[in-house]
Amino acid sequence: MSSTLINLYGLTRADLVVLTTGWGLSAVHAARLWKYLYLDTPRDFSAMDELPARMRERLEAEATAGMLPIARETHSGDGFTRKYLLALNDAHRIETVLMRYTGRTTACISSQVGCAMGCVFCATGQMGYTRHLTAGEIVAQAVHVDRVLRHTVAENPALAEVDHPSPHHRHERLRNIVLMGMGEPLHNYDAVMKAVEILCDGAGMGLSAKKITLSTVGVVPGIHRMTDEKRQMRLAVSLHGATQAARAALVPAARAWPLDALMDACRRYTTTLDRRIFFEWTLIEGKNDGPDDAHAVGALLQGMQAQVNLIPLNPTSGYAGVPSLGGQAKRFQEILAGYGLPSTVRQRRGIDIGAGCGQLAVAETTNTG
Ligand code: SF4
Repeated sequence: MSSTLINLYGLTRADLVVLTTGWGLSAVHAARLWKYLYLDTPRDFSAMDELPARMRERLEAEATAGMLPIARETHSGDGFTRKYLLALNDAHRIETVLMRYTGRTTACISSQVGCAMGCVFCATGQMGYTRHLTAGEIVAQAVHVDRVLRHTVAENPALAEVDHPSPHHRHERLRNIVLMGMGEPLHNYDAVMKAVEILCDGAGMGLSAKKITLSTVGVVPGIHRMTDEKRQMRLAVSLHGATQAARAALVPAARAWPLDALMDACRRYTTTLDRRIFFEWTLIEGKNDGPDDAHAVGALLQGMQAQVNLIPLNPTSGYAGVPSLGGQAKRFQEILAGYGLPSTVRQRRGIDIGAGCGQLAVAETTNTG
């Protein structure tokens, strides 16, 4: 695939109108093309038979519908998680995860190839940073998962009954996205926000921004920008340590954006937007899972619109820490409740296929095609 081709999944609907009217075609045809991209699943441009022939020819010559080929697909033993290794057009690869549990389906989407943030327990951080994804590459992951869901339900309608008892929902669509895959989304701000705008277009995928969660390691300027721009997505902040020293030992990015500045940005976000923040806390046995740690988190977040998500560490080859799988999570939750802070313990899913939080990574030398 030539990189000079225009990736249609990187265009907003307004961009698409500009493109096609520039070719001397009407906006009506742009609207039909948009529907083909997001609501139908045509094989290629030649199958878009409601478009004029000269438009199809122009598209063949100058554009791509940018779907990312599957280099490898793995399913977890519990049946709840599927992981896709998707090929980019420059030989890099990314991972995208489809999760089906707790009554809903969610896509975990990547925003970069690798990551520059270097969190010690994260397989993506252990890879290092290669490049940002384009908006089109981010959108294409969501479109991929949406198509998987539609085909899965078409093949096995009983699956639709699980998630949606109503007969009106037999054709399952993707409704929830977490930007928690490979990469730090606020390090790739413009592409991520453009992708969200495209995915939330009501004439296409029609996602609600409130069902898209952006997870950041604490890129303070990005949080301020989200506040200033009144972004409607849900915000999750990876905390992992409740003092600057403890946090910086696990999250090197904390040296660039210290805990005080991060908490100021979080408080400004919650008060300006009147929105809750989800704080992620990876539970590592003997490191940050004790009562003192829980009290420190409680004191730090008390009075904020906040919820704490506790995530027992998922194994990666580059980090020797051990997950807290005893009663630590429950005790942690009880202490947080004493500070008026709601919390959850994330279910451990997809661990056997390396699809859990912090496990996504691609061996760049691996040829899995
Ligand atoms: S946890 Fe997130 S921010 Fe940290 S290295 Fe992994 S992908 Fe990057």
